[in-house]
Amino acid sequence: MVGLVFGIYLVAARLMMHSFESIERNDASENLMRAKRGFSQTIDDIYTKAGDWSTWDDTYEFMADHNAKYVKSNLLPSAVSMLKLDVIMFVDTEGKVFHALPIRRDHALEAPHPGEILAALDLQQLQSNPAVSSRGASGLILLPHDSMMVAVRPVLTSDEKGPSRGWVVFGRRLGDPEIADLRALTHLNIGMARLDDPALQDSDQLNVAAGEASKKDFVEPLDERTIAAYSTVKDLWGEPALLLSIQKPRTIYQQGLDTVSLARTLILVAGAILGAVILLVLERSALARLSRLSMEVEKIGSGASAVSVSGRDELTRLAKRINQMLAQLRAGEEQLRVHNDNLELTVQERTQQIEHQAFHDKLTGLPNRALFMDRIAFALSKSSRTNSGTATMFLDLDNFKLVNDSLGHGVGDSLLIAVADRLNEAIRPGDTVARMGGDEFTVLLEDLHNVEEAEMIGKRILQILRRPIQLMNREAFASASIGIAFTSDSFIAPEALLKNADTAMYRAKANGKANSVVWNESMNDHAIERLELETDLRRALDNREIYVDYQPLVDLTTGSLEGAEALARWKHPTRGIVPPGMFIPIAEDAGMIISIGYWILEEACLQAVEWQQSFGLKEFTMSVNLSGKQLQAPDVVERVADTLERTGLLATSLKLEITESVLMANREDVVAKMNRLRALGVRLALDDFGTGYSSLSTLSMFPIDTLKIDRAFISRLGDEDEAMAVVEAIMAMSRSMKMDVTGEGVETEYQMNVLRALGCHTGQGYLFAKPLSVSDFSEQLSDRGRRALRVGKPGKSKPDKKAA
Ligand code: C2E
Ligand code: CA
Ligand code: CA
Repeated sequence: MVGLVFGIYLVAARLMMHSFESIERNDASENLMRAKRGFSQTIDDIYTKAGDWSTWDDTYEFMADHNAKYVKSNLLPSAVSMLKLDVIMFVDTEGKVFHALPIRRDHALEAPHPGEILAALDLQQLQSNPAVSSRGASGLILLPHDSMMVAVRPVLTSDEKGPSRGWVVFGRRLGDPEIADLRALTHLNIGMARLDDPALQDSDQLNVAAGEASKKDFVEPLDERTIAAYSTVKDLWGEPALLLSIQKPRTIYQQGLDTVSLARTLILVAGAILGAVILLVLERSALARLSRLSMEVEKIGSGASAVSVSGRDELTRLAKRINQMLAQLRAGEEQLRVHNDNLELTVQERTQQIEHQAFHDKLTGLPNRALFMDRIAFALSKSSRTNSGTATMFLDLDNFKLVNDSLGHGVGDSLLIAVADRLNEAIRPGDTVARMGGDEFTVLLEDLHNVEEAEMIGKRILQILRRPIQLMNREAFASASIGIAFTSDSFIAPEALLKNADTAMYRAKANGKANSVVWNESMNDHAIERLELETDLRRALDNREIYVDYQPLVDLTTGSLEGAEALARWKHPTRGIVPPGMFIPIAEDAGMIISIGYWILEEACLQAVEWQQSFGLKEFTMSVNLSGKQLQAPDVVERVADTLERTGLLATSLKLEITESVLMANREDVVAKMNRLRALGVRLALDDFGTGYSSLSTLSMFPIDTLKIDRAFISRLGDEDEAMAVVEAIMAMSRSMKMDVTGEGVETEYQMNVLRALGCHTGQGYLFAKPLSVSDFSEQLSDRGRRALRVGKPGKSKPDKKAA
């Protein structure tokens, strides 16, 4: 803009000044013309006045007679002063002065010399021109010291008739007064200089001007204020004589300057206004909208939803595009929000899941240890307010590891789930069942009045667990050992309460499994006890602390003695008798069971031989428990054979009792060994049948001579019809597989009668005899003559209601 305005200004100023200058030149030329016209008018005026005198009869007369009267009346200086002439001359036809009147108008100057004028006029020359001879001539002549305007006219009559009697010559000096008159006449600052004037020759400027003016009129500014125009004035004969000049103030030029400066101001102002207007327009149409747009875009961050759209240009398109982008952004945000909500929901669900997982057992859905401990603590704090008792039960499945190892985890899992369901069935509402892991469960019983209530619930659990469980399309039986810890002291630590239940549970296991034991103060810490026992057990054989008791096995139909089962005993130097249920598992774990087992086998075989020989009991059968560890060892057959050989007992007099659980692991190997043992003549019994998980149908795979129905089963005869049905099924099965059956733990005559009625061959139990020491057993045998061992003799017992 500034460049443009400046350019416009420069060009305009140049153009304007140029036109002003040409106007000025024209004006100067015109004025010069006026000056020239004024000058020739002056000469014409002299010519006209000379005509008045030359065409006049009086003058015509005068030229003939030269009378003084004419001179007196007309040619007095005062009379001619009006004519402003410096000379009036009458020249005769010969060219000689007839009469001359020099007039001294200015006293500082001398009157002109007529002879000089006549010489300068050169009338002879003039007369050769016919126009001049008839009408005369006027013009400028240069005298040695003067320049003079002259008019020459022929002397005629008043009627302009000739012949001419001579010439009238009027002359007026061209001096400063005349030039002043000319100035006054033309209102021009006129100057005149003779071309032969040495002053003119000296001035370069005038010299140049004279040179230029000789060709044509010449205009030249002298300075900023004055302009001059020059022209040459010719003399009477057309020769350049004077340099005529006018000088004018440069008003036009000054006007031009003023105009240009005004124009400049106008252009600058206009430029400024235009600039301002453009800025304003730009501001209105772009800048303001841009800043508004930018402000609106900034506001979007704080919740504005769109920018305003106005106009129809690039900014509008930009605003529309921004709004489009905002809409897209908002749609994206909405998607993100939905996504986020979903995510949050998922996280919540996961958190709940994880929380549940953190406090619940995955497999059974029961509370886990953490939650259970929490519940104990809560129950204890509640019990302090209600003044009631709290009990925890620790429950461990018997032989579970075997199920898992032999039948697979899938079966093990479904067994655990079934047990969990049953536990929930057995407890009261408000009590808690939890799984500690593995085959360990715990139960929290609240609001108890006494420990007996807890024991009752324990019994109910054992009972419910005894019901056959459907496992992989076959029935199996589960049992558990339960430890109960009861307290009415709300300050006991939850951990302590649970530990007590755990200790009691181990005691229950030691007591022969499938039972419950209530913890009491006298129970030593199980772990310490176990460790002590293990240490002591290592010396027990050498110290002769281990010995064998024998429990008779009785023919249920005849009541006669069939044989005996060898049961290991440990007489601890300080503890007294340690039950085998306690030390046998320790021996098994510590790897001592093999030496103890074979020691017992040898002892029992020797004893059998002795009793067979001493009492002539050829049919006497010795039953010896064979640990799973013994059976698993590769040399079991050799060692049994070796023992038989060394002791001299007939193989057929030995019956090895194997627990059901042993059969499950390494089935093929076990079956092979069992077959080899039987090949020796040794008979095999399946011990504790019914507590494990084997179904009747699997039994056919094993070479078994005798089934020993577990004590737990027998004890239920009379209580549950179901137990009766199970025993019946076992009997039917065993018959078809040609196995004989022994009932363990027969304590009542009723049980004996039921077994006998169902076709059970052999009985073992307190009803007949407790396990007896060698001497007691021997005593019984020796007494046989007097009172035969016929404790459970058939017909002697009174049949009770159920048997009937
Ligand atoms: P088991 O082989 O089932 O032995 C029978 C258990 O039942 C014996 O317990 C016996 O005293 C008990 N019993 C017999 N009749 C009755 C009765 O009418 N009522 C009750 N309540 N119990 C009765 P014990 O002697 O405490 O033996 C426990 C277990 O220890 C045995 O169970 C057996 O599994 C194991 N055991 C004992 N001696 C040996 C051994 O020399 N080697 C091996 N491997 N295990 C042995
Ligand atoms: Ca046994
Ligand atoms: Ca048994």
